[in-house]
Amino acid sequence: MGLSGQPIFIMREGTERTRGKDAMSNNIAAAKIIAEAVRTSLGPRGMDKMLVDQFGDVVITNDGATILKEIDVQHPAAKMMVEVAKTQDSEVGDGTTTAVILAGELLKRAEKLIQQKIHPTVITEGFRKAAEKAIKILEEMSIKSGIDDREGLKNSAMTCMSSKIVSESKEMLAEICIEAIIAIAEKSANGDWVADIDKVQIQKKEGESIDDTSLIKGIILDKEVVSPGMPKIAKDAKILLLQSAIEIEKTEFDAKLQITNPEQIQQFLDEEERMLRTMVDKIMNSGANVVVCQKGIDDMAQHFLSKAGILAIRRVKKSDLEKLSKATGGMIFTNINDITQDNLGFAGLVEERKIMNDSWIFIEECKDPKSVVILIRGGTDLIIDEVERAIHDALCVTRDVVEDQKIVGGGGAPEVEAAIQLRKYAQTLGGREQLAVEVFADALDIVPKTLAENAGLDQIDVLMKLRAAHQAGKKFSAHDLETGEIIDDMMAIGVVEPTVVKIQAIKSATEAASMILRIDDVIAGTKSAMPPGGPGMGGMPPPGMGGMGGMGGMGGLPPGMM
Ligand code: ADP
Ligand code: MG
Repeated sequence: MGLSGQPIFIMREGTERTRGKDAMSNNIAAAKIIAEAVRTSLGPRGMDKMLVDQFGDVVITNDGATILKEIDVQHPAAKMMVEVAKTQDSEVGDGTTTAVILAGELLKRAEKLIQQKIHPTVITEGFRKAAEKAIKILEEMSIKSGIDDREGLKNSAMTCMSSKIVSESKEMLAEICIEAIIAIAEKSANGDWVADIDKVQIQKKEGESIDDTSLIKGIILDKEVVSPGMPKIAKDAKILLLQSAIEIEKTEFDAKLQITNPEQIQQFLDEEERMLRTMVDKIMNSGANVVVCQKGIDDMAQHFLSKAGILAIRRVKKSDLEKLSKATGGMIFTNINDITQDNLGFAGLVEERKIMNDSWIFIEECKDPKSVVILIRGGTDLIIDEVERAIHDALCVTRDVVEDQKIVGGGGAPEVEAAIQLRKYAQTLGGREQLAVEVFADALDIVPKTLAENAGLDQIDVLMKLRAAHQAGKKFSAHDLETGEIIDDMMAIGVVEPTVVKIQAIKSATEAASMILRIDDVIAGTKSAMPPGGPGMGGMPPPGMGGMGGMGGMGGLPPGMM
């Protein structure tokens, strides 16, 4: 009776659905492709990638997070892998490639377990236990460091930059990053150190070379002194931060003024001049010798200010005004009539300096020494951008060590050690979970293996030697890729990483792998019809949609899955 023979439509026509094993193997395949795409860039011997977007803009990098940000992936599981890199980047700032490779390896090995009829939930449960244990192992093997351990900070920053294109200048850049973080770090009420890297301002200027990159304790404004008649330098500067214009306000509506004789024009101009003079007098009376204005400054007012020997800057961004307020302790005034003497900001030196063909304002020796700027120099934009990424990573890593106060040796040593101890732990579990934990341990080996592979060495050979060294109690033994030797203690040669970077990589990789493993049904809605030859035309293309669509060899997956 009834419905027999009648198809029931639950989902919109055209919806793609993949279920069970197919869904899983599609997802795993996509995730593996992403891991594969960044694999060759791991470590100091890793290769760089040149990424070109639809406008022909080029980025050269070997930073995992940047590579994945630039390439345009569409497969949902591949997107989750990109998220791994993003999470890693926002949480700890380094270890992005490691996290992605690890997630890929976990999935690859999980797939084999699934083929042996082990249920995905058993695997994810095993992975969860293994990750927890691995984190404990990493914490236990860590060495104490922190803000007073300059060597530890420097080695961490240098290690993180050794895999960058700019590694030649890593020592000098590391020093700058450490100085910057130490300057902005604060001890909180409960005794913990906090370093907010947003307090480190980055300015870039093409020209000179990377080695001319410098740290300025203060603030830089990409502006010049408004009038040539004004002083270019002010010592012991009392700074007025002003949000309103030093101009006669124009009326909102058009007003008509009937002028019947020439005197009236003169009166009119005199009145304007008088008003501007009053404004400047108020500024002078406050004792300010520097004015930073968010809006414009009238020519006449500029003239009066020049005569008074006041250095003025106009059209400064609101955000810069706020930064200045923090750095100099000055209040931001919205009205000239409210100016008071005691709410001016203070800086030891305000100076206009020429950098290449542009003039910039340097505000140094501020009241609050916690504001610093790193001024990046370099031959070309491409280099400067890569320096910026390297500095970002190094700042993050330094912050990680300052806040978490734990470091480990690098080069894959922590992974080898954790894997060995995990295998021992697995034996205490038994059953299928044991298999999952063992697989997790094997997956960790991908880090030393890939590092070796990228240096042109034999993976298995290196791994065997490392395992032997670790079994003999050398917990930080790894392969130094700069000399090509196996070292008993990576710490001793300064290859050091913050423990949190390693821990976060394990966390984000495990989470992503488990999430992908738990999916057995992919239901994809129909996309609005796109003109052949790519997105664009109708509707807004998703951000980041670019010419990189084909990259990573996503081919081979069913069309609906892309
Ligand atoms: P990620 O994006 O994961 O940080 P990197 O390309 O920065 O990837 O490579 C980081 C890896 O390179 C870490 O495992 C680190 O210990 C290792 N590494 C850095 N310098 C050396 C070195 N001199 N010898 C061996 N390994 C190194
Ligand atoms: Mg790195």
